[in-house]
Amino acid sequence: MAEILVVGGGAAGMMAALFAARSGADVTLLEHNEKLGKKVYITGKGRCNLTNDCDVDEFLAQVPRNPRFLYSALHFFSPRDMMALLESAGCPVEVQRGRRVFPRSEKASDVTRALTSLMRDAGVRIRLNADVRSFRMADSRIAGVCLSDGSEIPADAVILCTGGVSYPSTGSTGDGYRLAAECGHTVLPPLPVLVGLETEENWPARLQGLSLRNVTLTLSHGKKKLYSELGEMLFTHFGISGPLALEASCHLPDPSSGASLLIDLKPGLTAEQLDARLLRDFAAAGKKQLQNELPALLPASLAEIFPALCGLPDHLPCNQVTASQRRALAGMLKALPLTVRAPRPVQEAVVTRGGVSVKEIDPGTLCSRIVPNLYFAGEIIDVDAHTGGYNLQISWSTGALAARSAAESIL
Ligand SMILES: Cc1cc2nc3c(=O)[nH]c(=O)nc-3n(C[C@H](O)[C@H](O)[C@H](O)COP(=O)(O)OP(=O)(O)OC[C@H]3O[C@@H](n4cnc5c(N)ncnc54)[C@H](O)[C@@H]3O)c2cc1C
Repeated sequence: MAEILVVGGGAAGMMAALFAARSGADVTLLEHNEKLGKKVYITGKGRCNLTNDCDVDEFLAQVPRNPRFLYSALHFFSPRDMMALLESAGCPVEVQRGRRVFPRSEKASDVTRALTSLMRDAGVRIRLNADVRSFRMADSRIAGVCLSDGSEIPADAVILCTGGVSYPSTGSTGDGYRLAAECGHTVLPPLPVLVGLETEENWPARLQGLSLRNVTLTLSHGKKKLYSELGEMLFTHFGISGPLALEASCHLPDPSSGASLLIDLKPGLTAEQLDARLLRDFAAAGKKQLQNELPALLPASLAEIFPALCGLPDHLPCNQVTASQRRALAGMLKALPLTVRAPRPVQEAVVTRGGVSVKEIDPGTLCSRIVPNLYFAGEIIDVDAHTGGYNLQISWSTGALAARSAAESIL
């Protein structure tokens, strides 16, 4: 029987192995970790936001990089198909806020367990601790893959699903980039997306661990507004993180240094309404110190440093705050500025941008345009999406399509 080798047992690789076996091929899944789906296990903080229950056009709007490349894959295997597949494997799913889909158990391990059981039923051979080092080429095709233990496995087709370089402890070490480049593929440099932002200012470190809800974060470069959303963010030792910062990182200019951030701490109130509120509060507070009055408006740790951020003395009595000082306070509550120094390193990013150029992959089959029996799926390809279950769905969809194409080409 024709042999398909799937390299990498993450989201894309598991799906590719399942679909290739269901298409009638003899399939071996090679994973260099001691278990499958190590990254899936940590997705969605262990709950696994496995897809988004939206249609293809809505989906593509969440893909800033090469969205049209995914058109065929998403039509071939859609978010609804993924939901149905898991349900069929005894893993019920649930649609939550923002149409994010999770396993009802809220356990990422249930997703991997369901896929593993489907793969076993379909006859996939799973080889763990199998570290692929190189391809053996013959007549410009891949004839076999060589493992680090010196053994070689013959192949009629190979689906490369080794992911990017983010969170390398999960096994995503970028080996696939080297393997693709050795075959002649262009690999665009890996860049971090969905990652925390380092700031020039040091004061966020003093607030490390403080999470703000219902604030608006705006990212601009010069006069150009690049991103603005209401949500949750977190101060860290390096700057900011949390959902808003991660999303903002997808919109960073290149180079990113000098991009500016504004935090609206009170998006429900206008500057004038805030000024009126401060006027009332300060009148009632009398001689009490400003620093001690601000916790009515702000979390205590932020209130403590807020006067200094506005250039005011901490211990200023409220009844001595001038109108212009009050307006400065109100202004800072509406637009607390920070300057981006850089995104955190790609190893800390949720997703790697860059990878194998889509120009050298046929989007209808996901077959290499350079090596006729090589296919790509998942994060190794130069596509990435916002948060919301889209990145995993890219892996499921491309895994499924690459597998069907590979199987059809050899059977
Ligand atoms: C903390 C975190 C949370 C996330 N949460 C979500 C979420 O909730 N929803 C969402 O949609 N996306 C989420 N993502 C992104 C999503 O997990 C990835 O986009 C997706 O898992 C990529 O799947 P993949 O199969 O392409 O690559 P990977 O998951 O990286 O899998 C690649 C596999 O290949 C194996 N491998 C690598 N090299 C070799 C080799 N030489 N030989 C053999 N095997 C090899 C690796 O060990 C690994 O198992 C999250 C990512 C992170 C880091």
